[in-house]
Amino acid sequence: MSAKIRLYVEHPLGVGQSVPLDKGQAHYLFGVMRQAVGGMVSLFNGRDGEWQAEITQAGKRGGVLTCRDQSAPLRLPPDLWLMFAPIKKARTDFIVEKATEMGAARIVPVMTEFTNSGRVQRDRLQAHAVEAAEQCGGTFVPEVAEPVKFGAVLDGWDPTRQIMFCDEALAGTSSALPPVAGPWAVIIGPEGGFSERERSRLQNADHAHAVSLGPRILRADTAAVAAMTVWQQTLGDW
Ligand code: SAM
Repeated sequence: MSAKIRLYVEHPLGVGQSVPLDKGQAHYLFGVMRQAVGGMVSLFNGRDGEWQAEITQAGKRGGVLTCRDQSAPLRLPPDLWLMFAPIKKARTDFIVEKATEMGAARIVPVMTEFTNSGRVQRDRLQAHAVEAAEQCGGTFVPEVAEPVKFGAVLDGWDPTRQIMFCDEALAGTSSALPPVAGPWAVIIGPEGGFSERERSRLQNADHAHAVSLGPRILRADTAAVAAMTVWQQTLGDW
């Protein structure tokens, strides 16, 4: 039986392993969640699966958890990247959270010609991915990459990774996802859509497949969720 409270830690996990808590984690466990010595917490670090750990020291500024047994193995998501053009902050947070819950292996903010977001704070987005993994029972946390320019993404592209090019210009057509196994990436444009230059670059890329997400134009955050749903149902682990 796994403890309800789940905590992501940047620390190796294994039988008898002691895990020190930082001030923030101690405040959350002992201040907010009112846990005490002897209580159990589910720990994961994105590499060693989920472990049941006993609170062996509890204090205002720190504490120690001791791993007792493994409650779940590491479950890696399929090799699917979500690449998206950042939008307003709250909606970008939403995209990162949903991508984590829906099984993205990596999340890449892509700066396109019409991207109109403010500065992308990678650390803050990474914290959202951690929180989403804690909440959804995941044992893996996708890396949120540093923002990268659209051209640079395609310049060094690994041709063995297929691209699901969500093209709003295809709204209403029946352009479906081809059932090709292997690594994939979804790409979603900004509120202003892809520029003609970006669209033709993707249309001419051998490993990119233009796909419609239905007859209506979706907001970028809705499109990210819809695209990942289509991909997971067709090729993923759902
Ligand atoms: N400004 C664009 C327009 O009016 O056509 C809309 C861009 S939409 C808000 C943001 C992104 O979501 C698009 O670049 C595309 O990647 C994706 N998207 C939205 N609706 C879609 C659809 N029906 N089919 C495929 N992709 C879609």
